[in-house]
Amino acid sequence: MRFRLSCRPRPAPLMVLPIYAYGQPILRQRAAEIEADSPDLQTLIDDMIETMGVAHGAGLAAPQVGHSLRLFVADLTTYADDLADEEGNVPDYATGPLVFINPEIVLDEDGPEVEVEEGCLSIPDLRETVWRPDALTIRFLDRHFVSHEWPVDGPLARVIQHEADHLDGVLYLDYLSPLRRKFLGRRLKAIARGDVEADYPLAFAT
Ligand code: ZN
Repeated sequence: MRFRLSCRPRPAPLMVLPIYAYGQPILRQRAAEIEADSPDLQTLIDDMIETMGVAHGAGLAAPQVGHSLRLFVADLTTYADDLADEEGNVPDYATGPLVFINPEIVLDEDGPEVEVEEGCLSIPDLRETVWRPDALTIRFLDRHFVSHEWPVDGPLARVIQHEADHLDGVLYLDYLSPLRRKFLGRRLKAIARGDVEADYPLAFAT
């Protein structure tokens, strides 16, 4: 009896990537559009989803893991109960990780603005109230480069606005009053020099 061995390529093991902390120059750069045949893109997406999960984040943008690319991932599963309808049906987007490539956003500037406490995996241990529009339309490519256009509101709209800002070098801190930012100055300097603790790996500028 003879055995025939068949080998199939194993998927690369997932990696938890260090998250670039406040003070890293890449967090202030405008990220580049992604081409459909970008090498290693699928691996980067999988690693970002893994990293977001380990860090318990609702979103993570590629610049936060050292890649200046127009890509972010989101995970609304922790909001599933809040987003369920009266029969308990959870919207599809809150049942697993989402991938957004080359997003274009049109904010509903005529609609209401809402205040929400935001945090950022690149700025550990800090949460601040930020006002933003509650609704928007996003056009984007998914990980298979299929294009979509979604009208969204609520928590997903909030996560999308926060993460899309990362692709333009904008942080939620930029929406705070000058006085509030001044008040936070010392803490932000401490984060930039690595004087902060988090239960996920961080990469500091210095
Ligand atoms: Zn962030």
